[in-house]
Amino acid sequence: MNHSFKVGLYIRLSRDDGNIESESIVSQRSLLNQYVKENNYGVVEEYVDDGFTGTNFDRPSFKRMIKDIEFGKIDMVITKDMSRLGRDYIGTGELIEKYFPSKNVRYIAINDGIDTFIDNTNNDIAPFKAIMNDMYAKDISKKVKTSLHSRMKEGLYVSGRCPFGYKKDPINKNHLIINEKQAEIVRLIFDFALKGKTYHFIAQELTKRNIKTPASYYNYVWNAKCLSQEYGIWVDTTIKAILTNRIYVGDIVQGKTKKINYKLKKIVKNNPIDYIIVENTHEAIIDRDLFNYVQTLLPKNVKRPEKKRTYLFDGLLYCGDCKHRIMIRYQNKTGRSYTICDYYRTYYKYHVCTTHTNNYEELESVILDKIKEVCKINLDKNQLKYFIENIKIENNTMKINKQMDSLKLENNKLTETLDKNYVNMLNGMIDKEQYIRISDSIKKEITNNELRISHLKNENNELSIIDNKQVEKYIEKVLSLENPTREFVMNLVEKIYIYQNKTIEIIFAFKNVT
Ligand SMILES: [Zn+2]
Repeated sequence: MNHSFKVGLYIRLSRDDGNIESESIVSQRSLLNQYVKENNYGVVEEYVDDGFTGTNFDRPSFKRMIKDIEFGKIDMVITKDMSRLGRDYIGTGELIEKYFPSKNVRYIAINDGIDTFIDNTNNDIAPFKAIMNDMYAKDISKKVKTSLHSRMKEGLYVSGRCPFGYKKDPINKNHLIINEKQAEIVRLIFDFALKGKTYHFIAQELTKRNIKTPASYYNYVWNAKCLSQEYGIWVDTTIKAILTNRIYVGDIVQGKTKKINYKLKKIVKNNPIDYIIVENTHEAIIDRDLFNYVQTLLPKNVKRPEKKRTYLFDGLLYCGDCKHRIMIRYQNKTGRSYTICDYYRTYYKYHVCTTHTNNYEELESVILDKIKEVCKINLDKNQLKYFIENIKIENNTMKINKQMDSLKLENNKLTETLDKNYVNMLNGMIDKEQYIRISDSIKKEITNNELRISHLKNENNELSIIDNKQVEKYIEKVLSLENPTREFVMNLVEKIYIYQNKTIEIIFAFKNVT
């Protein structure tokens, strides 16, 4: 984690939690503070929602936290456990699985052992914890028996969000009924498709007609800054999603996605064979024959041609003014490559940003010079060594030390038990035979633990030896900075902001380097 985090602490207390002392604001705060102190994190903000339920996200401090994430004020959120974040499975899941990763925000739930930036088996159980927190808030006895999967098979609509064009039946929330206002838009889209119009054409046409986008109907708080909401712009992918969704003929297709990768990757798509499809579960908006016919008209998935060129700083360039990505485009005519703000490129009609055009080759050499300069001024060899060692070894060492600590603690306890066992024998509570048997097994356990501790110690030493060599090589490279590779640059630099006025701001991946 070559990054010093800007931490936000989130604390929530509601009446559903009863009078449990461990849930009190004071005890949550002290737990969080102890944790950040132990881990040396810098706390930027504390967010406290006192007296707010976890079953929704309509809480003032929570909203403020989301705002701060949007503005980059914090990039790490810590709570006592997941239920503090929320007790609504869908919402909390969205937050942890999609929203936080999309903003590159690290999330830690201390008591649940969840850290979204560390590959940890605890993260795999996060969804289940979220479900459990959800159940706590709702009717427990009813929910325990029915798994999500079997409910899908029954044709119940179990997603949190309603598909565009439908709303949840007020009598049965797992049943969909038509939302006439939105259904009209769906029919309009199919009409266009029937006339052979492209996704792009349809999207533009709807935008022109000022028709509300699906996204604008869902006001999840953390989507508040979502572009499509601000501008009501229809995008091709939305049109495609609607035109290919069988929900509109009355079928429910669920289980399209599975296991989540917490390391910043999106949800994995399921094989279509594994989809759970139940037909005619609700009223259709589009006639089945018509739908099938439209499918034959839709453009086939065309594979994108592979990118021919690779650029040293590709993926690191960001627009300094609007913070979106800067793309690099090769121009056949001139044989040169140019930068352009992607936000500007996509929505130039709406004047959301400016071009940010630069000749890429020139830009690259300017940035390289800048990096060299900064390296020379700020980094002496020892300092650099310290930074890199810190970053590379920190995580592994921390893990190993934790394991060793817990083994030592266990041995202390075992020794205590051993003493007690002796006293018990003296008191006549157990006979000598029992004493020997119990003592032997405890001693065995202690020896095993000691063995494991010494293994871990070796592991720790080896780790630092290997890394030291790597670090030395790395330092040589940094100080010379000749023909850097992309991988090397990625390790050194986190982001490069390009401003319209040609200012360049380089965010280094090392701590304290300015
Ligand atoms: Zn821009």
